[in-house]
Amino acid sequence: MKKQYDVVILGAGINGVAIAKALAITGKKVLVLEKNHIAFGASSKSSRLIHGGLRYLEEYEFSLIRESLQDQKYLLDTYPALVKLHPFYFPVYKNSKRPDWMIGLGLWLYSLFAKHGKKSVKVSKEEFFSEFKNIKDQNIRAVFKYYDAKTDDVALTHKIALEAQDAGVNILEKTQLKELHLEDNTITFETTQGIFEAKLLINATGAWIDEINKKFNLPSSYSIEKLSGIHIVIDRLLIPEPLLLETASKRIFFMIPNGETTIIGTTERSESSNIDDIKINNEDIEYLLQESNKYLKTELCASDIKEVYIGTRPIIKSKKEISKMSREYKLDLHHIANTRVLHIYGGKLSTFNSLARKVVNLLSKK
Ligand SMILES: Cc1cc2nc3c(=O)[nH]c(=O)nc-3n(C[C@H](O)[C@H](O)[C@H](O)COP(=O)(O)OP(=O)(O)OC[C@H]3O[C@@H](n4cnc5c(N)ncnc54)[C@H](O)[C@@H]3O)c2cc1C
Repeated sequence: MKKQYDVVILGAGINGVAIAKALAITGKKVLVLEKNHIAFGASSKSSRLIHGGLRYLEEYEFSLIRESLQDQKYLLDTYPALVKLHPFYFPVYKNSKRPDWMIGLGLWLYSLFAKHGKKSVKVSKEEFFSEFKNIKDQNIRAVFKYYDAKTDDVALTHKIALEAQDAGVNILEKTQLKELHLEDNTITFETTQGIFEAKLLINATGAWIDEINKKFNLPSSYSIEKLSGIHIVIDRLLIPEPLLLETASKRIFFMIPNGETTIIGTTERSESSNIDDIKINNEDIEYLLQESNKYLKTELCASDIKEVYIGTRPIIKSKKEISKMSREYKLDLHHIANTRVLHIYGGKLSTFNSLARKVVNLLSKK
């Protein structure tokens, strides 16, 4: 017996469950198929920040930053137990390639876009070192403080999934899609948990998107660059509040206190293998340890690492060099006879709410 739905969504990451919830609230009967488990993908491998992305200022991605910071305010207000505002510190060293005025201006602009009302300020070195006792105190030029939000990505995704289920969404985990048939009036999904039909398929599989489009011969307007990033989790608390630091090549990385541990990340590597084959590699771990040790009084070594995790971002391909490719998400809708296929390309943890709202608006257009 085939079960009928209005919409079938592939992928139970933050975007899949948020879209499911938003559509169910409008009265749609929604099924989510997840081949692993809720938050298996990038939604459990992030830096756990609900932020505009300070580094996107240098790429002039102002609309993405503005939207993320509007969503940040909504999430701070709606999920205060899961999304919390923190002071972030940015110490600038004498060898920094970014001048103080540029950092000050960038943080001022970032605070202007933010809706939480806290401004960025310069803090004295004495104040900084009195709190950050593990940080080397030589060669420092200035210290800036601004505000951003931290979350627990897994808990947040589960919370939205639960809200989706409360709104009537059926989420099937550990479900493999075996066959997909696109007919004039119906899309049929043959899965390991039964056969389902719907007129609308939403592909919210994050970095798996190209592989699925190829496997099931789905039309699409974009393709992705897969950028993987690792985080190392240090077995103790190194700092009291999040810290932004620069690598030798001017990249920004974070040290983020997390309970009794410290998360350090992230790296950025372009991947050509299939997502399921991407592995953590020792060079990336070494790189994070080395960069961190330039700033820490007591050096870290491999035995201080409690956990390492890797996640992959799907970045829409363009002619730009990888680090400059836009982080904006795109909704890619295709009408095929009387059915529709919508691909979700890209998207941050921070913007799931705007993204879901835009999906509902797009689909309600005649
Ligand atoms: C290293 C790193 C750090 C990041 N840090 C941040 C941050 O601090 N703040 C922020 O806002 N964003 C951050 N991001 C981005 C953010 O994590 C992602 O944009 C977001 O989690 C993407 O969610 P998603 O639902 O689109 O995809 P995913 O969470 O990847 O979910 C896709 C799901 O699809 C499932 N799937 C795959 N194939 C199939 C199939 N055939 N059938 C059914 N299901 C399938 C997968 O199992 C997976 O669960 C980071 C990303 C990375 C990689």
